[in-house]
Amino acid sequence: MTETTAKTVLVTGGNRGIGYAIAQEFKAAGHNVCITYRSGEAPQEFFSVKADVTDSASIDAAFKEIEAEFGPVEVLVANAGITKDMLLLRMKEQDFIDVIDTNLTGAFRVVQRATKGMLKLKRGRIILISSVVGLYGGMGQVNYSSSKAALVGMARSITRELGSRNITANVIAPGFIQTEMTDVLPEETKKQYIETIPAKRFAQPKEVAQVVRWVASDEAAYVSGAVIPVDGGLGMGH
Ligand code: NDP
Repeated sequence: MTETTAKTVLVTGGNRGIGYAIAQEFKAAGHNVCITYRSGEAPQEFFSVKADVTDSASIDAAFKEIEAEFGPVEVLVANAGITKDMLLLRMKEQDFIDVIDTNLTGAFRVVQRATKGMLKLKRGRIILISSVVGLYGGMGQVNYSSSKAALVGMARSITRELGSRNITANVIAPGFIQTEMTDVLPEETKKQYIETIPAKRFAQPKEVAQVVRWVASDEAAYVSGAVIPVDGGLGMGH
């Protein structure tokens, strides 16, 4: 359903995978959609700015470009993320640091920058893309699951700080979604994962995007500090 007022939406890492599907979903609902991309070609259908979430200056420059075109960002989807999987005993410290810097500190950088505009607007929606493994754990994912679990504390602290300012902060926790991130898994591993998922399948990125769009909608104004799974039942009990 198209909302009556077009919102300015920013999706980090919106050039491919789940971020791209989220950007498409908001565009179809009639919003002004901006994305950041770090590498490759910018998708033509959105207002695309190059930015790296590990670099505050590049984030600030991206926001300035977006604000000049559309005004403050009202809906922020912190989606950019990486994996650098390795079993704990063999994980390099740098691989732990890199994943935290992108997935957690990267989210902090964009959230902090976006919040300035939301306070002026007197409304805002912050949506952090976490993962089922944040609370479920994942073999070889001490770095990744730590970064994703921490987003829950981030959303809940933001909710406590800014809940009275008409700003919500929520976590979306996808399970296994068919993107380049999961395409690299060996077929045998994918089969084993599918066995453990009650829905017995991976999801399409659009299935995550639709939930994100709802959390950003006027209908979800009283939902904040929540962890919303989109995982076919994998993480029940979160
Ligand atoms: P992809 O690997 O397909 O895409 C990741 C996106 O993040 C790309 O656009 C990538 O840019 C961007 N990105 C990575 N590092 C940076 C950075 N330093 N600065 C800016 N952008 C960056 O991943 P998915 O679409 O699968 O995942 C999207 C989000 O969903 C991630 O946070 C991921 O952890 C999460 N997720 C994914 C699941 C899945 O099963 N696929 C399950 C649960 C959560 P570039 O194109 O330049 O590399």
